[in-house]
Amino acid sequence: MKKQIISALMAGLMLLAAGCSSSGKQGGSGGKQSIGVAMPTQSLQRWNQDGENMKKQLETKGYKVDLQYANNDVNTQVQQIENMITKGNKVLVIASIDGSALTDVLKKAADNGVKVIAYDRLIMNTANVDYYATFDNFKVGVIQGQYIEEKLGLKDGKGPFNIELFAGSPDDNNAKFFFDGAMSVLQPYIDNGKLVVTSKQTDFATIAIQGWESAKAQARMDNLITANYADGKKLDVVLSPNDSLAIGIIASLTNAGYGSADKPYPIITGQDCDKPNVAAMLKGQQSMSIFKDTRTLAAKVVEMVDSVLQGKEAPVNDTKTYNNGSKVVPSFLCDPVYADKNNYKEILIDSGYYKESDIK
Ligand code: BGC
Repeated sequence: MKKQIISALMAGLMLLAAGCSSSGKQGGSGGKQSIGVAMPTQSLQRWNQDGENMKKQLETKGYKVDLQYANNDVNTQVQQIENMITKGNKVLVIASIDGSALTDVLKKAADNGVKVIAYDRLIMNTANVDYYATFDNFKVGVIQGQYIEEKLGLKDGKGPFNIELFAGSPDDNNAKFFFDGAMSVLQPYIDNGKLVVTSKQTDFATIAIQGWESAKAQARMDNLITANYADGKKLDVVLSPNDSLAIGIIASLTNAGYGSADKPYPIITGQDCDKPNVAAMLKGQQSMSIFKDTRTLAAKVVEMVDSVLQGKEAPVNDTKTYNNGSKVVPSFLCDPVYADKNNYKEILIDSGYYKESDIK
C-alpha cells in the first residue's frame, strides 16, 4: 500500500517536472533555450534585485539565463549585448544605461532574428525593440507630487513653502516622465506662489543629475544651500526622483546641520525603497519612497519572453504612451505605490519583500 502511494507520488512528480521544463525547451535542439538579461549596474540595490528576480523566475520556467551587469558603462553594455547575440540567445531583456546608444547593436539583433524586450527603461530611436515592460513612470512622479501636496496642506491653501527640484539622468527616458508627473501636481502651486523655488532652477536640463549619481546630487545640493539657504532661510521640500539622489541630498543636508529640532530635514521624496533609504525613512531623514515591486515586473517580463518565443502577442496594457522616436513600443505598465514610515510594514514587510532586519 505504502509502495503504491509512493510510486503514484513519484509518477505525479515526474509529470510535474516534465510540465515545468517544457516551456523552456523551445528551439528544437532539445537543450534549454537561453535568455540574455542585460542590467545596467550592480551599484544600486534595485538592479541586483531585478537581475536576481529575472534569473530565478526564468530558471523556474526552464530557461537558461545569461545575466550581465555593465557597471553603468555604455560600451560595456553594448559589448555584452553583442556577445549575447553571438552566443545564440534568442530573446534579450535589456535595462539600458543610455537608451539612445543601442541602435547599432539592436540592428544586429534583428538581423539575427533576436527579439528584444526593454526592461524598465525605454530603448530609444530604433524599431528593433519588440516590447517594453515598466512601471507607470508618469504616475511615479504624480505620487511624489501628491505626497508633497498633502504633507504641506497645499490643497487647503497653506504656504508659501520653499522647495528645490532634482531630476534623474538625462539619458534615461524615465527621468523626464518622473519629472513631468511630479510637475503636473506641483506647477500650479509654483504658479500661484504657494511653492517657491528659491534657486529659480526649474528646467529639466539644469536640475538633471547625470548617471543618477549620489555624489553629483550631493554636490548640487551643497551649492543650492550655499547660494540660497546659508542666511537661515527655511528649506521645506526637496523633490528627489529616486533613492540614489536622495542619499546624496540627505548627506549634503546633514553636513549643513539639518536634522536637529530647530533645523529639521525638509520633506524629501524618493523611489525604489532601497534598504538604506527605508532605514533613512525610519530615522526621519527621508519622507517617502516609491515602491516598485521588482518581483511583479520580472513576472510580467517572463510572460513576455514566453509569448515571444511561442510566436504569440505578449500581454500589454498601453499602446500609446511610449514613442521611442522610431515607433510606439507596446508596453505593460505595472502600478507604483509609495511607502513611508506609517505604511512600510504593510507594503514592504508583510509583502515578503524585506525582513525587518534588512532595514534596521
Ligand atoms: C528607474 C529607477 C531608478 C533609476 C536609477 C530609473 O530608470 O526606473 O527605479 O531609481 O533608474 O537607477
